[in-house]
Amino acid sequence: MPATGELIFTAPRRAKPPRHLADLTPAERREVVSESGEKPFRAAQVSHHYFTRLVDDPAQWTDIPASARERLAGLLTPELMTVVRHISCDRGTTRKTLWRLHDGTLVEAVLMRYPDRVTVCVSSQAGCGMNCPFCATGQAGLTRNLSAAEIVEQVVAAARAAGRGEIPGGPARVSNVVFMGMGEPLANYRAVLGALRRLTDPTPDGLGMSQRGITVSTVGLVPAMQKLTAEGLGVTLAVSLHAPDDELRDTLVPVNTRWKVAEVLDAAWAYAERTGRRVSIEYALIRDINDQAWRADLLGRLLRGHLVHVNLLPLNPTPGSKWTASRPDDEREFVRRLQAHGVPVTVRDTRGREIDGACGQLAAAEG
Ligand code: SAH
Repeated sequence: MPATGELIFTAPRRAKPPRHLADLTPAERREVVSESGEKPFRAAQVSHHYFTRLVDDPAQWTDIPASARERLAGLLTPELMTVVRHISCDRGTTRKTLWRLHDGTLVEAVLMRYPDRVTVCVSSQAGCGMNCPFCATGQAGLTRNLSAAEIVEQVVAAARAAGRGEIPGGPARVSNVVFMGMGEPLANYRAVLGALRRLTDPTPDGLGMSQRGITVSTVGLVPAMQKLTAEGLGVTLAVSLHAPDDELRDTLVPVNTRWKVAEVLDAAWAYAERTGRRVSIEYALIRDINDQAWRADLLGRLLRGHLVHVNLLPLNPTPGSKWTASRPDDEREFVRRLQAHGVPVTVRDTRGREIDGACGQLAAAEG
């Protein structure tokens, strides 16, 4: 267990996950295939089965000679993860999946169906090194980074499940992906960027999702935020702020000891300016810790006039934490004060709470 405030930026080195087509650009896939003695266009055929048809069983790749299917599957679509279990709530419309990766590492992903959209919440690391005291994921530290394909496969698996009608309400397509599961996405920059490309590249090279449907959430790693800005992607950036003042934020989000509130917000505004996309500010309301009216006013003054939206999250309970969600009156007053500053604000629902699948509750233990 990490000490209070201890930060881990570099993931321990482990045996690499199997290489998968979702780790590779289309050109790299062709290279791998042709090096194996197969025709390079087979790479696009397999990509089509994986990304467009969501079919992982080589027996169904009927446009490829039967003799080549297993070999191509071994080269491009090795098994990356297996389901340990699914748990559902909200009448089946929220489903958390515990996955076991090739080396036994456990991670979780959550599929949520709403009337107008289907969202997958993915993990980018096993564990997390950012050590926020109110979040269950950080309490066990960082196990390892996920590969791009391990991230993409969480989405593809959810898309298969939704497409097959496994979530009540009939067959559906995954419309949104949020990098709000386990881990700090910007601490695993290369793999996350690869995953963003695979998710948004048009089919059959990628899943062909809309960039605006994808949200990357960060504790505020400023250099990585600047790098992401320069990529020119149109994904939504969310910043886990949780306090408007450095004194409190140093304790709630320990990485604030490296990059202060003002620097994090400057990087967020630069992102908004470059992309034209509203930045989302995440703020978990914790009773008597960060929910005072004066903090709402301070937050309102920091944010007013910017391309921003505030997502207030009632604190979800986590094991061993003494903190709890704000009183309803304090929450209402917080909202009212932000609105008085002209800052758009919504209170996020607490989907998945009963299955420890809500924000900050993912710990991926076999029990
Ligand atoms: N590391 C990234 C991605 C995780 S996103 C980040 O922190 O942004 C998960 C979101 O849930 C973050 O905004 C996080 O601060 C918030 N969160 C963590 N623990 C929570 C809890 N117990 N209740 C409500 N929100 C929580």
